[in-house]
Amino acid sequence: MMQFIDLAAQQAQIRGKIDARITAVLDHGAYIMGPEVTELEQALSEFCGAKHALTCANGTDALQLALMALEVGKGDAVFCPAFTFAATAEVIPSTGATPVFVDIDPATFNICADSLKRAIAHAQEQNLTPAAVIAVDLFGLPADYDALSEICAASKMRLIADSAQGFGGTYKTHRTGTLGDIATTSFFPAKPLGCYGDGGAVFTQNEDLADKIASLRVHGKGRHKYDCQRIGMNSRLDTLQAAILCEKLAIFPEEIRSRNEIAARYTAALGNLFCVPYVPEGLVSTWAQYTLRAPEDTPREKLIAALESAQIPVGIYYPKPLHQQTAYASFPKDPRGLRECEIAAATVFSLPMHPYLTDHDQDQAIEVLRDALT
Ligand SMILES: *Cc1c(COP(=O)(O)O)cnc(C)c1O
Repeated sequence: MMQFIDLAAQQAQIRGKIDARITAVLDHGAYIMGPEVTELEQALSEFCGAKHALTCANGTDALQLALMALEVGKGDAVFCPAFTFAATAEVIPSTGATPVFVDIDPATFNICADSLKRAIAHAQEQNLTPAAVIAVDLFGLPADYDALSEICAASKMRLIADSAQGFGGTYKTHRTGTLGDIATTSFFPAKPLGCYGDGGAVFTQNEDLADKIASLRVHGKGRHKYDCQRIGMNSRLDTLQAAILCEKLAIFPEEIRSRNEIAARYTAALGNLFCVPYVPEGLVSTWAQYTLRAPEDTPREKLIAALESAQIPVGIYYPKPLHQQTAYASFPKDPRGLRECEIAAATVFSLPMHPYLTDHDQDQAIEVLRDALT
């Protein structure tokens, strides 16, 4: 049966290498911070061009480590889009800071610069100090980092890039991982670069921040483990997961190419019928999702029912924006409202997308969608 994300097809390409890697870890037995962790961190640095790559336990911790390293806390406002996975916002209140929700640009689904400016003014009126922005590379497309860097510089804020979905993408001359003061990613299995469990990483060009994150991820350690310099957490990537990721990273550039070919093929077939994803000039997406909007005259439910009855997997990312969720409804937001987040949540749906999707399966999804319109 067709898979939404086919991890088995990927594993079949590299199973022998992964088995050998796992065996090597079982042989040396350094399960925590073993040699594969260092090997992976060097390979990640080289791959994206970030001076420092520090792995950790998951993508949520990566964001939390970023906020802790930037010393964000009580009285601070941290801005993020409301159309994202909950983890983006979840880490903010846990530092004592206040999340402030921002609308998205309807063309890219990423944080909107104008809405951000309104949200900053609103936070200041509430006596909050604008401290940081967490931009999200939603569905794999890098956010508008030039515009965001300018706003952050003008307001003396720090910029965090949540590249859980967009790691491996390109923003003009830069790979994601090098954008913002700190960038983060997740190695959750379904992400474009995933392991076989939980995992994450933090990237920065700044040595002081890198040293701090290295300490924070091991209980705030100083020169040795029983010398605590700061309050930290326990957030390390398992050696086994690092070993698996070393092999997955080796084929990642080729997979990004395949993802882009598959996305281009969807767009060529569906572009005149649906609102297809927009990729601004100079940007490369990693296509964590290939997301369409239902046309005005066809309810999304009808399209999803047609796909499901043809056994074509389909997903809705995300059905409810964060500012409308029980846990987040009381936090401040752009005073003009988050209309584009709400429209997106009501209209989007995502098609099967992974580097091993066959033309045959893709054509089937395309045909079912076309027929459902008429
Ligand atoms: C998956 C994801 C995260 C969290 O990653 P985990 O590894 O699951 O903790 C954070 N932000 C975004 C945008 C994500 O998609």
